[in-house]
Amino acid sequence: MDTVIPADQIAALVDLVERHLPIAVLTGAGISTESGIPDFRSPGTGLWNYVDPMKYSTVTALRTRPAEFWKYFSTLRGAVEEFEPNHGHVALARMERSGHVQVVVTQNIDGLHSRAGSTRVLEVHGNLRTARCQDCGDRVALAEAFAQLASRDIPLCGCGGRLRPDVVLFEDPMPPVFEEAWRKAAACGLLLVVGSSLTVWPAASLAEFAPRLAIINREPTPADGRAEVVIRGSAGDALVALAERLGAWE
Ligand code: NAD
Ligand code: ZN
Repeated sequence: MDTVIPADQIAALVDLVERHLPIAVLTGAGISTESGIPDFRSPGTGLWNYVDPMKYSTVTALRTRPAEFWKYFSTLRGAVEEFEPNHGHVALARMERSGHVQVVVTQNIDGLHSRAGSTRVLEVHGNLRTARCQDCGDRVALAEAFAQLASRDIPLCGCGGRLRPDVVLFEDPMPPVFEEAWRKAAACGLLLVVGSSLTVWPAASLAEFAPRLAIINREPTPADGRAEVVIRGSAGDALVALAERLGAWE
């Protein structure tokens, strides 16, 4: 809410969107900062200013230091209940209902798109709702895994196998849903990227495969040069302005 988005930039985005309906959207951590969840790379406030994800958010850490991994991971415990969708998430959900948005591909694990009402969401980095067994693959609520940490260091499945969070860690393969995201990005008329530094691969490669790009982000991204519209400002404000101009906000 710190920026005034120039009207001509919104007009250019509206025009582009209207010519390529329905659009696909790719979101990153930047869409959730206005809900109070820090992103990774914003200067000063990003999570990488405090913790090194390469130390904890890796398959190696899960395998070699599972107790430490779960201790670190449990700092995300409150995240599911504590944070609410913001006006940017709501704008995307309303633009899905109005037929402007075909799909939201998100790198976020916070679940806020679905909670805001979007129904076609591809979570390419997993989610914080569930944990899964590393032996039998069964899923349990992540809250249940966290609850076990009161009595043991590593939460276990009913079969005795170790549980792991259902998020994509560094060194993990991409989940099957990523292929669907890739197909959607390649087949859409326009991919609108919101709040992503476009530096985390392979998620950033979705922008490479899209025929046309628009970007809403506070800071420059490596794909800005290829985008037909770049809006440098608040994701929430820009998306509400877009939804209003498309008649989707009411
Ligand atoms: P990133 O941290 O690399 O980049 C976020 C970008 O958003 C930055 O370029 C920043 O300038 C911009 N930004 C921040 N607040 C904004 C706002 N209000 N409006 C517009 N732009 C804003 O994020 P990424 O590209 O998504 O990559 C980070 C990885 O970390 C992802 O894989 C994601 O899974 C994970 N992550 C997820 C969450 C979450 O679920 N909310 C939070 C942190 C990290
Ligand atoms: Zn099991």
